[in-house]
Amino acid sequence: MEILEKIGDAASKTYKYTAEKTSKFAKETKIKMQINEHKGDIKELYREIGEAVYEKYVVDENIDIEFLKEKCEEIKNLSDEIVKCKDEILKLNEKRQCKNCYEEIGINANYCPNCGFQQEEIVDTKEEAVKEKIVEENNDEVEENKEELAENQEKTDISKEKNKKTRNNANQDSNSNEEQTDIDELNEDEDNNEED
Ligand SMILES: [Zn+2]
Repeated sequence: MEILEKIGDAASKTYKYTAEKTSKFAKETKIKMQINEHKGDIKELYREIGEAVYEKYVVDENIDIEFLKEKCEEIKNLSDEIVKCKDEILKLNEKRQCKNCYEEIGINANYCPNCGFQQEEIVDTKEEAVKEKIVEENNDEVEENKEELAENQEKTDISKEKNKKTRNNANQDSNSNEEQTDIDELNEDEDNNEED
């Protein structure tokens, strides 16, 4: 019984390990495919630039600078994307690149084992952004609550004022000798009082 349990335990551990490894491998493969796609797009942009330059040369016209700028900008963006993808792969493997010699080093290494360069502290930008957003939202909420409080205070003041008026009216009514049962007359009275 005990042996069987142990076997089961070992098997599930192995399964977990394999599953983690597979998902990591799948992720890395996906990122590598993205890199290849970006590289292909960059090659195509180079080709378009070359073609445009040659076509202008043949007809003896000036090169369209705006067109070239646009294409260069696209290449730049794709190159940045490739750098990001490579960073992601390094992170998946718990590694990073030394800022000085570009050697792959452990993600938690403070100094590069290859060149001794001190590494920057890793800040999880995503987490930071989320934290900032929460703080911002809370601030907004506090402001809103303040506004609501002020509004409620105003309402309370108004109803206090109204109560005072109503009480005064009641006093006046009870003081008067004539009993006013006519609703129209009552309303008229109220209108007059409100004008006061
Ligand atoms: Zn280094």
